Amino acid sequence: MAKRTYLVFLGVPGAGKGTQAQLLAQALEIPQISTGDIFRYNLKHETELGLLAKSYMERGELVPDAVTVRMVAERLGQPDAAQGAILDGFPRNLAQAQALDGMTAPHGGVAAVPLIRVSDEEALRRITGRRVCRTCGAVYHVEFNPPRRPGLCDLDGGELYQREDDRPETVRNRLYVYYKQTSPLIGYYFCKGLLVEIDGAQTIQAVQAELRAVLERKGVQVPQTEGTP
Ligand code: ADP
Ligand code: AMP
Ligand code: ZN
Repeated sequence: MAKRTYLVFLGVPGAGKGTQAQLLAQALEIPQISTGDIFRYNLKHETELGLLAKSYMERGELVPDAVTVRMVAERLGQPDAAQGAILDGFPRNLAQAQALDGMTAPHGGVAAVPLIRVSDEEALRRITGRRVCRTCGAVYHVEFNPPRRPGLCDLDGGELYQREDDRPETVRNRLYVYYKQTSPLIGYYFCKGLLVEIDGAQTIQAVQAELRAVLERKGVQVPQTEGTP
């Protein structure tokens, strides 16, 4: 079977995973799969999955593995992911990482795991100012990455809103859950020789440039595209 490119992005909430994954996905021509985005889409459309995820998301807890893993397996089976995918927000614990290994093993496994490092203080600043387009999900920051017109998406003019779980009460628990459940994955992927560390405390373009350089060293070819840093 042909080899596919699967990348897993790690980093505290607010590190910039979604921002970087989106830019890289365009260049690699593989989808960015954000489990958080999929849950939010289901919440908005009040599907059974959305209603199930709601209470966990509101508290900043993880949605149960069985549900999350099944959702990712289905998403990876869709035609646009036939060459691989960038996973952003999954896996978030060891059980999910092992499940992903199982899913990707027939296709050469996970190719590399960029860890975007920022301080907790910086992550909090980024989360507090994060705004998301209601229509297309594009991510902005009121100060660091503002839209051209305040409160409106550059791409489609959609209304920008603050995620419920980006409020300070929930953010603290999300950081706690990250350290307790997700951070062991740093060791897990380091031991597999897949971890690459990126300094996230730079401009968005500089982080993207460093990301592409370290991926090339891991054997992941990133084609030059328009807007390449
Ligand atoms: P994550 O997916 O890791 O939770 P996001 O990509 O949503 O993080 O980024 C969190 C917030 O920080 C967003 O508001 C985004 O616009 C902003 N951001 C992302 N990268 C940078 C950066 N390098 N410098 C400043 N702000 C950034
Ligand atoms: P995110 O958009 O990645 O910050 O995720 C938002 C919320 O969705 C998290 O706080 C969890 O409640 C839920 N979530 C996203 N990804 C996962 C996952 N892989 N496993 C369990 N819950 C998840
Ligand atoms: Zn939009």
